Amino acid sequence: MTVSAAAMSSPKCRVLIVGATGFIGQFVTEASLDSGRPTYVLVQSVTTSTTGSPSKSKVIKQLQEKGATILYGSISDKELMEKILREHEIDIVISAIGGEKILDQLPLVEAIKVVGTVKRFLPSEFGHDVVRTDPVEPGLRMYNEKRKVRRLIEELGVPYTYICCNSIASWPYYDNHHPSQVLPPLDTFQIYGDGTVKAYFVAGSDIGKFTMRTVDDMRAENKSVHFRPACNYYNINELACLWENKIGRTLPRIIVTENHLLAAAKENRIPQSIVASFTHDIFIRGCQVNFNIDGPHDIEVSHLYPDEPFRTLDDCFNDFALKLNHNSTLADPITSSLFNAATCA
Ligand code: NDP
Repeated sequence: MTVSAAAMSSPKCRVLIVGATGFIGQFVTEASLDSGRPTYVLVQSVTTSTTGSPSKSKVIKQLQEKGATILYGSISDKELMEKILREHEIDIVISAIGGEKILDQLPLVEAIKVVGTVKRFLPSEFGHDVVRTDPVEPGLRMYNEKRKVRRLIEELGVPYTYICCNSIASWPYYDNHHPSQVLPPLDTFQIYGDGTVKAYFVAGSDIGKFTMRTVDDMRAENKSVHFRPACNYYNINELACLWENKIGRTLPRIIVTENHLLAAAKENRIPQSIVASFTHDIFIRGCQVNFNIDGPHDIEVSHLYPDEPFRTLDDCFNDFALKLNHNSTLADPITSSLFNAATCA
């Protein structure tokens, strides 16, 4: 498949997003709509949905109000996907499908190949470079599935960009797969190992914003784009101090050892054990920082967009502190429950 640079630079590239109602997908869809591109989102009907719930209908309604066109179906239906790609003349496909459904993308990749007009596919990655690290099980299983999707994309010659955005900006709870929806700790810090292994933290809105910058950028074609913002490079001891500064008090620290994380992974509770295996990979083994970005298919996002700032982790923690102050001034139990819904956007 060959695509001219002129066609790719068009601001009117039509974008199809899968998983738009999910955690990462919402950030990407917001950014696509903000960029002014015609944005189509594929949602599953209530009967096949993995998330279901009234909150999903609310998200769909919000996206619709912002200009998204809603289409119904599953990416595992190859014929349907071919029809959608053709009828809506889709240029860019972005998948933010959940970790447990990674292989559903295989028929989608085949449909993209058959249709032959899609200029870029971004599969559901949005984490680490899955060919550069081997977490323990059950995280490894998800990486093997992401690798399988990559292999098919590359074998079929579908133009791609892999987004390796590292950790979402928040306290990295080892048993919560959407940690930015929860405030950092208010009683005790759990410190992984000696707490000195560093990682990169990226605000959800920046995952969306920079993903959308890459989709029609020829420099990102057939590349893994790594998010390593220098301003958000922290170890967990530093993260604890940052949060203590925001709340104006110190909290006790408990060491969570490597063996404890491995035991939590071994319990094979999904998704908690997957998160435990990634936490081990990040904060014990240093999987985000123990390699150089120097391969022919690697690029760092700040090299592509040096003038585009990242939201700092300091800012994100300010947001969490504001929510905390706001909630603690509200006495009734209903509003207090908002403590548990603190997303760092
Ligand atoms: P979620 O589970 O929050 O959302 C998954 C979305 O995929 C939902 O909208 C779901 O829709 C949709 N979906 C599932 N199956 C299908 C299908 N067959 N056809 C169409 N849509 C489907 O996913 P996450 O946001 O947690 O994960 C997305 C990606 O981001 C994953 O690759 C994950 O590994 C990564 N991630 C990275 C994080 C980080 O810190 N860097 C944190 C969390 C995730 P429905 O409701 O209809 O089922």
